[in-house]
Amino acid sequence: MLNGNLKLAIQKKGRLTDKSLQLLRNSGLDIEDYSERLIISARNYELDLLFLRDDDIPEYVQDGVADIGIVGEDIIHEKKAEVEILRKLGFGKCRLSLALPESKSLNNIEELNGKRIATSFPNILSSYLKKNNINAKIVEISGSVEIAPSLGVSDLICDLVSTGNTLKLNKLKKSFDVFESQAALIANRDLKNDVQKYSVLQDFLFRIDSALKAKTSKYLMMNAPKSALETIKQIVPSLKSPTVLPLADESMVAIHAVIPAEEFWNIYQNLKQAGASGILLLPIENMIL
Ligand code: AMP
Repeated sequence: MLNGNLKLAIQKKGRLTDKSLQLLRNSGLDIEDYSERLIISARNYELDLLFLRDDDIPEYVQDGVADIGIVGEDIIHEKKAEVEILRKLGFGKCRLSLALPESKSLNNIEELNGKRIATSFPNILSSYLKKNNINAKIVEISGSVEIAPSLGVSDLICDLVSTGNTLKLNKLKKSFDVFESQAALIANRDLKNDVQKYSVLQDFLFRIDSALKAKTSKYLMMNAPKSALETIKQIVPSLKSPTVLPLADESMVAIHAVIPAEEFWNIYQNLKQAGASGILLLPIENMIL
């Protein structure tokens, strides 16, 4: 499709697909349910979506087949792609960690010298070993890395871990972390030379930033005695000064504020103690600061 639209590559089917689509929809893009299509255009925006295998996304963006892409940082670094990382997106979080049989121990990383480590991430592991001056053998395996030690193929593994359940099932235990990953928005390095697309990208980034910010913020509302206002202002970690509104009962006020979502459970007891009542916490759809 050579229509001049910004081309965004996302994972066709996998862990990052739904969250990537959700982020785009929260940014105001009207995207139909894609079913099995490889490319679709947003109905209300100059953007085409390409659905690709996530392993291929960094290279497609590097080569300009797609202008931008959403993919895990693990894949970006493993593929050594020459792309610009524009934003970290806060989902798809995982760790690439070393793991070893439950019966073995590893007290410090020097003990990795001379060991065999199975992984699907040979490049990331190799830079980690180099950085730590370790001489170990990397055994490259494309999938089911966790069975390598029981087959005698390696002493340890280096694999993505989130809950640790797969490790437990294979009688392995987690050891040192090698790399932390989350989904990221990447761009082709020459995109700034395309004036039209670059200007769409600036607007797209503005929308993404406001959607990301809205996700981590909440709208807090409460009523309180006027006399408690100063105490409550000290408690509320407001982004800006809170809104204070008069109520029919002149001794009371309503206080509204945007707060970081995770702060609510740290402050609600203090708010109640200060005299706040009718405390409401609401989601925010979008936020432009
Ligand atoms: P997948 O759909 O399994 O191919 O995973 C795609 C991407 O999701 C990976 O490259 C990681 O960036 C990310 N991810 C998040 N959590 C995990 C996990 N527990 N295991 C594997 N990948 C994960």
